[in-house]
Amino acid sequence: MRAHVRATAKDRPGVYRWLSPDGEVVYVGKSKRVRTRLLSYFRCESDEKGARIVREATSVEWEYAPSEFAALIEELRLIKRYRPRLNVAMKRDARHFAFIKLTRGAAPKLLVVRGAGADDAQIYYGPFHGAQRVGEAVRELNDALGLRDCRLDQPMHFADQPELLQIFPRTPGCIRHEIRKCLGPCVGGCTSREYDERVSLVRGFLDGADDGPMDVLRRDIQSASDQLDFERAAVLRDKLQRLEALREQFIRFRFAVETLSFVYTVPGHDGDDRIYLIRRGRVRGEYALPRSEEDRARLLEMVSDVFNPTEHETAQVPSHEVDELLLLSSWFRRFPAELAKCVSPGPPTPRPRGRRQSSSAPHSAAA
Ligand code: SF4
Repeated sequence: MRAHVRATAKDRPGVYRWLSPDGEVVYVGKSKRVRTRLLSYFRCESDEKGARIVREATSVEWEYAPSEFAALIEELRLIKRYRPRLNVAMKRDARHFAFIKLTRGAAPKLLVVRGAGADDAQIYYGPFHGAQRVGEAVRELNDALGLRDCRLDQPMHFADQPELLQIFPRTPGCIRHEIRKCLGPCVGGCTSREYDERVSLVRGFLDGADDGPMDVLRRDIQSASDQLDFERAAVLRDKLQRLEALREQFIRFRFAVETLSFVYTVPGHDGDDRIYLIRRGRVRGEYALPRSEEDRARLLEMVSDVFNPTEHETAQVPSHEVDELLLLSSWFRRFPAELAKCVSPGPPTPRPRGRRQSSSAPHSAAA
């Protein structure tokens, strides 16, 4: 492998895959200089990770990319595709940000997590700074809206499950239902529809889309006052105040994803310059720098589609996009000078460079 890498690999940006004898991709990496990087694996001490990768692999393949940035994006895609067992998958920026995850299932619950899991069927909100403070805020939100916060496999018994009436547990799994902090879906304290309505309110609240939770509380306060239940009205008023504070808190915690929305021009190897349309921290399009009026007009159309202001802005991040969002925020934090190559959506200008060449013919070295 070493001889082949030495003879054929070039020092230019790219991604590489180490493969086991049965073709399993055991490790994926990227580098600004593929040749130098690959050769460095063969110099690792026996207890280093690089040596372990070389021990487990019998071949290595690589492809060139126009730039380090392009290689970074491609590396992420390959890791997601192959899930190589020796990659410490995308942990690089997870410590900086937290997400609020809304689980699926009969009685969804909110969790504070550091990054996306492998399950694509979850909804994420964020990213937020300060996992601990976000965790406290989520607890308040759960209490205010009566959402559960027990373990995921806690059995649920909704009030509208008549076939289960005979076997309802008489006591809830914790005291939150008794102290009115949870609707009590574990003991028929609510119907599945009532619980889902609260979940919808939470989603709207986290999205910043509406004040539903506050409206519910205001109505409850009014109703408690009408029934002269002033003690309950006072408790609800406290909750309302906490929720109003929480809304401000969530706005403060939320990393300004909107700041990662621009057209990013990346000079490429041998003139292979690329334009990335990045919206809310995710690459929505990658194009060669236009060289003709026709190309430019096509690109402008793409820009206008991607940055269409009528598209509903949401704080939700699909789970398959969480890693990319973290990756881009990490990239621009590590290389703030790159922001100088970013412009708000508008017509890009070609650099006076040589002809673009193809950049990604695959190469490989087998043992
Ligand atoms: S009352 Fe039941 S559903 Fe609510 S948090 Fe406790 S165990 Fe979970």
